[in-house]
Amino acid sequence: MIPVRGFEDQRVAVFGLARSGLASARALRAGGAVVVAWDENPEARAAAAAEGFELTDLRTADWSSLVSLVLSPGVPLTHPEPHWTVKLAKAAGVEIIGDIELFARAINAAPIHKRPKVVAITGTNGKSTTTALLGHMLTAAGRDARIGGNIGLGVLGLEDMHGGAVYVFELSSYQLDLTFSLKPDVAILLNITPDHLDRHGGMEGYVAAKRRVLLNQGVGDTAVIGVDDAACQQICTEITAANRRTTWPISARKAMGRGVYALQGVLYDATGDRVIEVADLLRARSLPGRHNWQNAAAAYAAARALGLSVEDAATGLVTFPGLVHRMETVGEIETVRFVNDSKATNADAARQAMSSYPRFYWIAGGRAKAGGIEPLEDLFPRIAKAYLVGEAAEDFAKTLDGKAPYRLTDTIEAAVAAAFADARASGEPAIVLLSPACASFDQFPDFEVRGEAFRSAVHGLLQRPLKGATG
Ligand code: ADP
Repeated sequence: MIPVRGFEDQRVAVFGLARSGLASARALRAGGAVVVAWDENPEARAAAAAEGFELTDLRTADWSSLVSLVLSPGVPLTHPEPHWTVKLAKAAGVEIIGDIELFARAINAAPIHKRPKVVAITGTNGKSTTTALLGHMLTAAGRDARIGGNIGLGVLGLEDMHGGAVYVFELSSYQLDLTFSLKPDVAILLNITPDHLDRHGGMEGYVAAKRRVLLNQGVGDTAVIGVDDAACQQICTEITAANRRTTWPISARKAMGRGVYALQGVLYDATGDRVIEVADLLRARSLPGRHNWQNAAAAYAAARALGLSVEDAATGLVTFPGLVHRMETVGEIETVRFVNDSKATNADAARQAMSSYPRFYWIAGGRAKAGGIEPLEDLFPRIAKAYLVGEAAEDFAKTLDGKAPYRLTDTIEAAVAAAFADARASGEPAIVLLSPACASFDQFPDFEVRGEAFRSAVHGLLQRPLKGATG
């Protein structure tokens, strides 16, 4: 745990006592603060009470005695409407911050020799992959790297810092909205496409939140920016012109005079006097597809900025074992391969998996995002058949009508069984792909549990004696 100092004997409210909230409460208490904790969920409150935290309903609390409100990133700050805790804090003039801000204050207050390096990674898609990949590259090269944030442990639950460590954080736009004094040695902004717009009041607010990852950077710091979309290209142009830090554009689409780019699966480093051919990414089994080349280019640029040699960084790329729930093969039965891409919670993310296979049996649905699956229409001809689950099923059926065969299956388990039967009956090698293009919250607590449900359904099939294809 990383104790947060600077709040000694002061009263700090923590709202939202799940993973990162409880870690914040512990870290604040370890630094000497008086934590005033609350959550709407009685189970979360009980967990905090069991650790001896003072529980106070923040609706009736004396806000004049509080110095800060530490908000869980899941709680709306501005849109669709500020949460009631936000309104009360604002009325009382109490600052509203998140766990990343607490981490930033802890590190900024530490003596220079104890300060670790910090890498902050954001973007609409690819954050977890890039975070895990960079963590792996650093560890494989013998560095003491710890990953956390929106992936794995909340940042304050990580082991305490020392000067040689590198913290690699995946940061969501919600976390960035609650962060003010983080000064990352390396910031990575991968891509920006519309997502979570309801929480940011539109594209402008969303871009502004993502851009916060670059905040406070100065001389000696590095920004790595994907330039394959218009919003990021513009940010890259602006901060390169401002010339306050080293900026490396990265691309998975085009060669560049300076920067890091991948073309036809080969990663090139054009950050020095000459262009170096770094690695054949087609050998990196866990980084298939052009979208992963973007992640590879970003992680490589960051690894170099942190002092890794070209060779060490290249080795880390090809030995990366990959992440669960992202185009993860969870089983093969006869000629049918089952691919778990439960992490694809929007159409843009699902596009990556869908464009990786020429033909597939597609399991999709859940709680739809704005626009549903309409943006994927160009890929509909690849769908052998769709199995639609969850709240979105009927709407998705309307979108697919006349364009691809589909069936309403309601649950993931039923979808897996039906897709397997059809795929097997085709008599050809086939892919059953769970890439839902939806949030999971209608049927599951999160995408991980959804992915596990898919995995168990596949393993369930494996354990059943197989009937003949026509039987
Ligand atoms: P995040 O943590 O940002 O949600 P992940 O690395 O977990 O991203 O990947 C989520 C989904 O997005 C996966 O389905 C994957 O196929 C897709 N994806 C991964 N990297 C990228 C990228 N650079 N651009 C677009 N989509 C991507």
